[in-house]
Amino acid sequence: MLSPRQVVDYALQRRALLADVRAGRVGREEVCDAGAYLLRAARFHGTSAGRACPVCRHEELAQVSWVFGESLRHVSGSARSAADLEQLAAQVADFSVHVVEVCTECRWNHLVRSFVLGTGRPRRGRRSAGG
Ligand SMILES: [Zn+2]
Repeated sequence: MLSPRQVVDYALQRRALLADVRAGRVGREEVCDAGAYLLRAARFHGTSAGRACPVCRHEELAQVSWVFGESLRHVSGSARSAADLEQLAAQVADFSVHVVEVCTECRWNHLVRSFVLGTGRPRRGRRSAGG
């Protein structure tokens, strides 16, 4: 069972950006710029966002979870499945997760939510202070 900490919701920023796009203040090409790496992550690790793309109305809007943190070492900066997140949360003291929604049709992408996962405890096996 995951218990996210320091949850930040980016719904307001997302809504403001979409309003700018609809009003023509921000070009669609500026917000629909998901790169090949992000698109591939959306196809392989993405889960359904449960809503249509806000830009092109395509129904297959995906959500991808990216993990970051020093204690993750080489895993930091990669996309992970929900099962991976649970496994990491049980093993690592703390790491942050950035949930990004991605449209594989028009390449819209935006940060949806960020939070911190982990045991909250320092890694086992560190040297004891006693001698
Ligand atoms: Zn789209």
